Amino acid sequence: MNAASRRSDFTVAVIGGGIAGPVAATALALAGITATVYEAHEGNSDGVGAMLTLAPNGITALASIGIGLPDGIGQTLTRTVMVGPTGRRLAAFEGLHDLGPSKALWRTDLYRVLKQQALHRGVASEHGKRLVSAKPNNGRVMARFSDGSTIEADLIVGADGINSTVRTLIDANAPHPTHIPLLNVGGVADITVDADVGSTYFVFGGNAFLGYWIEPDGRTAWFANIPETQPMTGATARALSSNDWLVRLAGLFDGEQPAAALVRSTAASNLFALGSIQIMPSVPRWHNDSMVVIGDAAHAPSPSSGQGASLAIESAIELARCLRDLPTPAALAAYEKLRRSRVELVAKRATRTNNTKTLGPLAMAIMSRTMPLALKTFLTPEKMLGPEQRYHIDWAADAARPST
Ligand SMILES: Cc1cc2nc3c(=O)[nH]c(=O)nc-3n(C[C@H](O)[C@H](O)[C@H](O)COP(=O)(O)OP(=O)(O)OC[C@H]3O[C@@H](n4cnc5c(N)ncnc54)[C@H](O)[C@@H]3O)c2cc1C
Repeated sequence: MNAASRRSDFTVAVIGGGIAGPVAATALALAGITATVYEAHEGNSDGVGAMLTLAPNGITALASIGIGLPDGIGQTLTRTVMVGPTGRRLAAFEGLHDLGPSKALWRTDLYRVLKQQALHRGVASEHGKRLVSAKPNNGRVMARFSDGSTIEADLIVGADGINSTVRTLIDANAPHPTHIPLLNVGGVADITVDADVGSTYFVFGGNAFLGYWIEPDGRTAWFANIPETQPMTGATARALSSNDWLVRLAGLFDGEQPAAALVRSTAASNLFALGSIQIMPSVPRWHNDSMVVIGDAAHAPSPSSGQGASLAIESAIELARCLRDLPTPAALAAYEKLRRSRVELVAKRATRTNNTKTLGPLAMAIMSRTMPLALKTFLTPEKMLGPEQRYHIDWAADAARPST
């Protein structure tokens, strides 16, 4: 089976124009399948997280369908430096050179690139279209949007993020996202701290975890994870004033450098508070006959994995490859088979990383002592990064003839 053997009027409605949606639509267009993206927001950005890091596997997955990231956007990151609560450098390790670097990007820049690529492939996008329901209709599926309009398609691809509607249309008992006891706050400070350009610094501070790197314009981008057992929604976090957040952060990082200086040098307008980190528990059903979920709708690991966007991109492309090469029911089953074990492994590792961000003083002291030795001996970059970053998509390979 290939796209040519599908009915020529076979169409896909992609719900969600974040990261997975435009990538899926672009890959489907390459596969000769007509897809339209329906995005709830009128504008471009969902506002979830101002910046993110694309891992090498996400960048090479995009390259597999001809999407390159223009040189002018993002900060290339090749090295990770771990710093203990006293400011002592615990260890540093390089990325896997043969895979290329990671890239820290403004979310809006990534959205723009992905949308341009989709447009370039002839993908139509409609904004202000929030899916509310869907039901089978004469062998096809009819989707209804909150503005009362409806469309028909042969398949709905739910790329509608962690609070997915499509997921619950597939399975009314699907699990909901859960909060983990860490708040996410970040910003861009108007100073260049003493740091190597191209390195990401992870600081296990006394009261909160800090990550930072130098941006191409010399400013310093940073994020903090604050232990907090009470769940906080993004709306609640945004309802607090930026100045209140800056005061709280100044207290948490009092006496810790460069954290204190970063907080002091961040304008209220350059701060973003996102509330508790959310993750998606394992989703038992990824598809039925006419709907399937990809990206955060199916598998949202904690941001601590640095893999959510990259996994979303991989799943979008793998789904399109399966739909190109197999009849729909077999394609959906093959897609799940290709993806489930991988995304669940990444989620497990992210949970372990989250746990290190909430260690008490004793456990932190032990980790500070053991980490340098571990990184010099058994915990090699290959062991830490290889399993996630070496995932390779062979776009040309026939999904109907899996190699293993
Ligand atoms: C603070 C934070 C930091 C992160 N950092 C990283 C990082 O460094 N590296 C990384 O790889 N990942 C990171 N992630 C995770 C990453 O952002 C997600 O994994 C990624 O955005 C998932 O892409 P997606 O397209 O599946 O979902 P989204 O990007 O959430 O897009 C979903 C889209 O669907 C739309 N939508 C929702 N409901 C409907 C509906 N009913 N109808 C129509 N449209 C709808 C939304 O408006 C949105 O545009 C981070 C996440 C957070 C919260």
